[in-house]
Amino acid sequence: MPMNVEPLRRVLELERDKGCTDTAVIGGLDKFLRRWAAQAMALITSPRLLAQFRKLRLDDAKYASLSQEQRKKWLADVFAFLDSLKAAETEVKSSPKRVAPPRKRPAAVPQAGGQSLELPITTLQGVSTAVAAKFKKLGVQTIRDLLYFFPHRHLDYSRNNYISGLTEGEEQSITANVWQARVTMLGGRRGTEAIVGDETGNVRAVWFNNPYIAKSLPTNARVVLSGRVRLFGGRYVFESPEWELLEDKELVHTGRLVPLYSLTKGLHPRQVRKLMKPVVDGFAGQVADFLPPNLRKRCNLVELPQAIVQAHYPEDEAAKDNARVRLAFDELFLLQLGVLGKKHEWQESQPAAPVGIAKPVLDTFLKSLPFELTAAQHKVLRELLSDLEKPVAMSRLLQGEVGSGKTVVATAALLAAAASGYQGAFMAPTEILAEQHFASVTELLSRTASRVEEEDNLRRFTGILDKPLTLALLIGDLNQANKKVIQQLVRDGEIDVIIGTHALIQKEVDFNKLGLVVVDEQHRFGVAQRSALRQKGFNPHVLVMTATPIPRTLALTLYGDLDLSVIDELPPGRQTIKTRWLKPAQRASAYAFLRKQVAEGRQAFIICPLVEESEAIQAKAAVAEYERLSREVFPDLKLGLIHGRLSAAEKDEVMHKFRAGELDILVSTPVVEVGIDVPNATVMLVESADRFGLSQLHQFRGRVGRGQAQSYCMLLAENPSEIGRQRLDLIEKIQDGFKLAEEDLKLRGPGEFFGTRQSGLPDLRMAKLSDVKLLELARAEAIRLFTDDPGLKQAEHRLLSVELARVWRAGGEWS
Ligand code: ADP
Ligand code: MG
Repeated sequence: MPMNVEPLRRVLELERDKGCTDTAVIGGLDKFLRRWAAQAMALITSPRLLAQFRKLRLDDAKYASLSQEQRKKWLADVFAFLDSLKAAETEVKSSPKRVAPPRKRPAAVPQAGGQSLELPITTLQGVSTAVAAKFKKLGVQTIRDLLYFFPHRHLDYSRNNYISGLTEGEEQSITANVWQARVTMLGGRRGTEAIVGDETGNVRAVWFNNPYIAKSLPTNARVVLSGRVRLFGGRYVFESPEWELLEDKELVHTGRLVPLYSLTKGLHPRQVRKLMKPVVDGFAGQVADFLPPNLRKRCNLVELPQAIVQAHYPEDEAAKDNARVRLAFDELFLLQLGVLGKKHEWQESQPAAPVGIAKPVLDTFLKSLPFELTAAQHKVLRELLSDLEKPVAMSRLLQGEVGSGKTVVATAALLAAAASGYQGAFMAPTEILAEQHFASVTELLSRTASRVEEEDNLRRFTGILDKPLTLALLIGDLNQANKKVIQQLVRDGEIDVIIGTHALIQKEVDFNKLGLVVVDEQHRFGVAQRSALRQKGFNPHVLVMTATPIPRTLALTLYGDLDLSVIDELPPGRQTIKTRWLKPAQRASAYAFLRKQVAEGRQAFIICPLVEESEAIQAKAAVAEYERLSREVFPDLKLGLIHGRLSAAEKDEVMHKFRAGELDILVSTPVVEVGIDVPNATVMLVESADRFGLSQLHQFRGRVGRGQAQSYCMLLAENPSEIGRQRLDLIEKIQDGFKLAEEDLKLRGPGEFFGTRQSGLPDLRMAKLSDVKLLELARAEAIRLFTDDPGLKQAEHRLLSVELARVWRAGGEWS
């Protein structure tokens, strides 16, 4: 704990230079020394220094009664002590601090090994059932939960000052005597006013609206005040400072780094801090450090009990940081281990069907395409095919920018499965996209087929395989008879590739011989979904595709169960989309620009404001906007409207018209976000653009620029917040989705990027997803450990295995 010993040193030097005559301070040294000692006592944490300090008996200084010779010797001792105090401080600054062992345990603490950690907090002194109910709202039920209930930040009240050294505006602490404390009227209400003083002066402190404090500050008590002072009538005043009587206990509210907890109504900061201190001191030592010691040392991590103590009541900033690093490492490491375990379970428990690769079929298909695959597409396709050939189920995440050409790669893989006699499923998040995939896959395959037969939602291609290849579309509002027919055909193995929404395929379809599942735009395709597809002894290969660029480390962490493929290159000739953020006053010119593009034969999207999550409300807003635009702004143009409440047939009709160029402008709720591909569309106008995340804006922008003509993205924002502005600036400047994602990650707080809570993964409380180094370290260590002992069967991994089960149980199964 930093402590300013210079004034003392100066006084004592003066005394020495004056020949030890006790004339350095008016009133004699003893009074001065006693004051100083009382203050210093609370700040010396090292037991060694404390012992040395006690020996000097400064708190009961009898300098006046010593002989000149004794005074000289005694002064020398004090100087020596001050020197070692200084040495200890510099040592602390340059090396991570050792934590003082927890002090005495509170009387009411049960002592039954680690068991007591699972006891409800009501077993703690001072926790009533009412208080426990409040804690429950915060997810805290057991003593362990309480230990892991970390403050969201700390107030730095560690700067100790003399009253004469106070300055306006900064957080600072003083240790002083209470001269007087009384209830008084402050701003028309009862409050507390106190006058306190130290050897350098007096200062006033006031607490508005709080007359009760007066009773707690008896005259002559030693008190520590922490907070800011304001200049009032030429004098400093502490306004509602934190306060704490200086007793024979460690400070918890003042004079140090003081924890701030995110509390709920009915829990008070002082109450929680007071409760927390003895719990941390008494129980943190019982938390078993589950990290294998060699790993902990290799990674330079502090021990777990120490980390918990320091996360709540840090000795200093360095200790606080070390604690955070350790606890964040734990979160990321356990997350990784769990994820690797799931993958292992998924792959090992049931072998997959190796899909032999019919090379000539694939070659013919690739040759028939109107374009060459990019190098990145080739690379990814090779990765997929090599996975498919293995008897281990593929679990791969394919990331690729909007327009990077994932569909054709997926189609090739599905074709490979079909050629090898297996069925494939292609799952989309929405019906519009399912239909679009059905159309694109049909288009791609028909180029190599010698004949295509069409029948409602079925396409039959001949000339690709030795037998006919059948493709089917399964969507919600097919009529029942039609649906039944398709389901039966799938069951009989008559359909090779089925395309539909996630929900339909998982719920309603029995496969005959499912070999490959392609999942488009669903990030958390977890164990439950896979199990639903594991039928009749088939453990299908799974390819998950996403256009949401996720920084690699993050992807590896959150989707560590998946192998990662990236199409990091766009087909040649793709343009940069001119992106502008427009002020409300520029709305008219935005409309004029859009009109000009339409006059040149182009088409445009207008994305309606994000009203609420509810589809019904969004649809209503979109209808209103569509009507306004049709009536007032573009009465002479052909407008279409699309939203989530339309039936599939209606959506299909609108999309069909837009694709065919029969509509000039498509007004849409944010549902068009993913996947829609209309090359003639060159203008994207987004309303309330500041309300969307960067990745989502990037997705919108990806709807244009898909053809040859220069494309534009206009972002309207009424009154963006600071963060909103930053996002809009970034999207104007940056085209690369991955770079944007990195920036997005920086702008958003930890956990917010993907909302780990929603994803069913264990909570990340201390880990920041932007902390790439730590992510990488945790991942490397998890892989190392997992490779060495996948079942965590070795004795030194027993505690770890228990902790892993606990964390993942709390986090729940994957959604
Ligand atoms: P996404 O990765 O966003 O799903 P798509 O698969 O929809 O992208 O492809 C976008 C467009 O680019 C489609 O019209 C597709 O035919 C075309 N495309 C795909 N690969 C190439 C390529 N290598 N060269 C040129 N155009 C391509
Ligand atoms: Mg796509």
